[in-house]
Amino acid sequence: MNIREDIYCPNCGEYAEKYNSLDTKTVRTSCSHCDYLLVQCSETGKVIEAYAPGLLPSGCSQLSASSISR
Ligand SMILES: [Zn+2]
Repeated sequence: MNIREDIYCPNCGEYAEKYNSLDTKTVRTSCSHCDYLLVQCSETGKVIEAYAPGLLPSGCSQLSASSISR
């Protein structure tokens, strides 16, 4: 199950969503305004996957888009 939180995107400051997945023990932060993505382990805080527009090569956008599940 997922716990959804409303947050502000740390990248662009717009409305974004944070999903805390109890099944996979991951926290996923995603912003539809700038495609910011951050996946962290909820137990250790370790970053599993991260994507922020403007910070990484644009080639990563396809990778992050395919990993977003709603
Ligand atoms: Zn954003």
